[in-house]
Amino acid sequence: MTDSLDALDRLPLRDDLRGRSPYGAPMIDVPYTLNVNENTHPMPPEVVEAITEAVREAATGLNRYPDRDFRELRAALAEYLGQGLTEENLWAANGSNEILQQILQVFGGPGRRVLSFMPTYSMYPLLALGTNTEFVPGERSADYSLDAALAAEQVRRHRPAVTILCSPNNPTGTALGLDVIEAVYEAASEFDGVVVVDEAYAEFARDPEDTALTLLTGRERLIVSRTMSKAFALAGARVGYFAAAPAVVDAVTLVRLPYHLSAITQAAALAALRHREGLLANVEDIRRQRDRIVARLTELGLEPASSDSNFVFFGGVRDSRGLWEDLLADGVLIRDVGIAGRLRVTAGTEAEVSAFLASLEAHLENRR
Ligand SMILES: *Cc1c(COP(=O)(O)O)cnc(C)c1O
Repeated sequence: MTDSLDALDRLPLRDDLRGRSPYGAPMIDVPYTLNVNENTHPMPPEVVEAITEAVREAATGLNRYPDRDFRELRAALAEYLGQGLTEENLWAANGSNEILQQILQVFGGPGRRVLSFMPTYSMYPLLALGTNTEFVPGERSADYSLDAALAAEQVRRHRPAVTILCSPNNPTGTALGLDVIEAVYEAASEFDGVVVVDEAYAEFARDPEDTALTLLTGRERLIVSRTMSKAFALAGARVGYFAAAPAVVDAVTLVRLPYHLSAITQAAALAALRHREGLLANVEDIRRQRDRIVARLTELGLEPASSDSNFVFFGGVRDSRGLWEDLLADGVLIRDVGIAGRLRVTAGTEAEVSAFLASLEAHLENRR
């Protein structure tokens, strides 16, 4: 590693990339992987069948480039979201990370800022770096909430070209009221700022009707980003998407790579959407496991944040790194997001959550 780092240093890297670290959630093979907020329930066999059949069929046409505008997938995504959206409002890419990258490529860039509210998704600063956009780390209240006045004031102060609101927020799990999104959009409208609401975890919210999709009408610079990686249990397929005014869709076609969404990805995503009932059937159980984690951590005297997602962020630990290591030694991988005294755990299956709680209870006294 040292040798390769030296070799890296000798390369003519961009100055702003020198000394930087890549996104690095550990990938460790353990019995209980609860660190990257996947849907850990096994894929329903009928969905595996449907995807296999769709991909087999797509394989017969792989000598040709795929549909560059993937209208069938966009129409299926619009139908899934409802809200009167059509394929003209939808766009997809290889994960919502690529969606966000494309948005920053179009609306960010040199001399422009992107504002988000910390702590939040660790990819935002990295996407800003990659697109040469200045990242502005905004603030939340001490309990990680963000009210309309606090958010709008920071938007007016920093005048970012793009504001990213993550709701429910990663790593805290907290959702934003629609009044916050409205206030941020109004503040950003004073200088034509774009507002992105990253709703990667929307399906797990206690009130899933409370989505920024309901605010799209009449807001031409509002973008709502979603993913099939979490509730849809399709993290490995890499499918993210957004809904916005048709002009925003036209704008990202300026920067997307031609044929960025492979025929296999399109086929797999379409098959998954056709079988969404089977895939989304586990969402209710995941919500129950999340609420079970929050309840038990509270009983244990820890401080779990209120969660509308499929994970729980908790404090009240003295030695969070030590506890993370204890759990790993028991085969339970959770997430240390680098905030002292706090850890994040994904709500998995009932058995996985039981294993996490048993390990936690065995080691907590030494680490609190
Ligand atoms: C997991 C996650 C995503 C999803 O990324 P994909 O590229 O779609 O897998 C997006 N935003 C947040 C906040 C996430 O936690």
